[in-house]
Amino acid sequence: HEVARLPPASRQSVLMAEADQHMPQGVAENYRFWGQKRTVFVKTSKGCRFTDVDGKEFVDFRLGYGPIILGYRDERVDRVVCEQIMERGTLSGFSSGLDSEVARQIKGLCPQIEKIRFANSGTEAVMGALRTARGFTKRNRIATVEGSFHGLYDEMMWRTDLDNWDYDGKTEPHIIPAGGGIPPVSRDLMDIIVLNDFEKLEDLFKVRGDSLAAVILEPIIGNAGSISASQEWLQRLRDLCTENGTMLVIDEVKSGFRVAKGGAQELYGIYGDLTTYAKAIGNGYPVACFGGRRDVMDAIGSHQGGVVHGGTYSANMIAVSAAHATLKVLAETDANKTIDRVGQQLMDMLGRVFEEAGVENHFAGPPAMFGMHFGPNVPTNYRHWRTTRSGLYQCFAWQLIDLGVMLEPDCREPWFICESHQDVDLAWLEDTCRIAMKRALEL
Ligand code: PMP
Repeated sequence: HEVARLPPASRQSVLMAEADQHMPQGVAENYRFWGQKRTVFVKTSKGCRFTDVDGKEFVDFRLGYGPIILGYRDERVDRVVCEQIMERGTLSGFSSGLDSEVARQIKGLCPQIEKIRFANSGTEAVMGALRTARGFTKRNRIATVEGSFHGLYDEMMWRTDLDNWDYDGKTEPHIIPAGGGIPPVSRDLMDIIVLNDFEKLEDLFKVRGDSLAAVILEPIIGNAGSISASQEWLQRLRDLCTENGTMLVIDEVKSGFRVAKGGAQELYGIYGDLTTYAKAIGNGYPVACFGGRRDVMDAIGSHQGGVVHGGTYSANMIAVSAAHATLKVLAETDANKTIDRVGQQLMDMLGRVFEEAGVENHFAGPPAMFGMHFGPNVPTNYRHWRTTRSGLYQCFAWQLIDLGVMLEPDCREPWFICESHQDVDLAWLEDTCRIAMKRALEL
């Protein structure tokens, strides 16, 4: 009788207990672990919504960390991919012609791209771009920007230790690895600068000008709540790279084909020597690439001293057919405009909700990928972001999740908008946000 009275176990808890036996923390990769009770298991998805294994439906502004640009299960893409799989095959380890067709599409949208190579993930695209920069310049050092994320490559896993820094402005924080298993030697060639800090930028080139192969950055930091480079700072970085023969590598893994058809570089009108793309290029299929100046990309190849780039799955037919179909929709329709319009409506709506609640807030970044920060100013760098009320954001986000609106409970992850969000009932969403904010403030 006792057993009969217990509530039925949720499907989530059953699956989590099972997954725990097979995978560290019960997940396939670190970032989807949200705790024993909160780790999400998804059953189906369509448009801008998904349903979890217990039948709860969510409107999703997380979109798998950004790849979904049109919507889940978009027929314009999925039909093309299914036809490819059923009628022509997935992989041969040879060229297809469709790879160069996709390259042509990318060049049509992104004028700084003259040649590209394919990869399977953002991490791999970054590895390829940085090795190419090193091979072309014959230099070794790389600089990144504090608060950014460029994938799981050892050298990209170094951080400034802001938790143990006193913000006195006199000392600089220590640089530490993001976790275990990162060899100290991978730190030796890395420098970290601070977004929008002219002094640190000038110092970097003064000290490292001759040895710096590349500076890699996201001008709109999709991993720090879309806080953005100022036009002047990015231009100064561009000029210093040019003067010093350093490759400017713009990581558009999150922003590419999303914040504009031509990505962040189109918005700024400032272009990198190399660019990395992934995520939105395939509306959820695993496809990535890097590319840029012809002379730089031609450092890749099997000639003596050529840069080695390869991969069994590079430009596999699932990846390139998905990219081909997605880029065709983005090039030929107003999808990006729709996304911008809906994103702007959302920002306006959220602004109203916070004003009513008396909570100071600021948005950062463009509507397709905006960050939201509680505090008196828009953060201009990652150090500054850390002074915002991220705890309040977290409470607000958990309340929204409870009410069926999915987003990352960490405001370093922006709100991602897809074309299908045009179907969302904004009045319902506004009420829901109001309830979530009220509850968050009561906690
Ligand atoms: N660069 C940026 C800017 C990213 O946001 C990410 C992933 N969030 C990566 C690189 C790595 O991409 P992936 O997870 O596909 O390896």
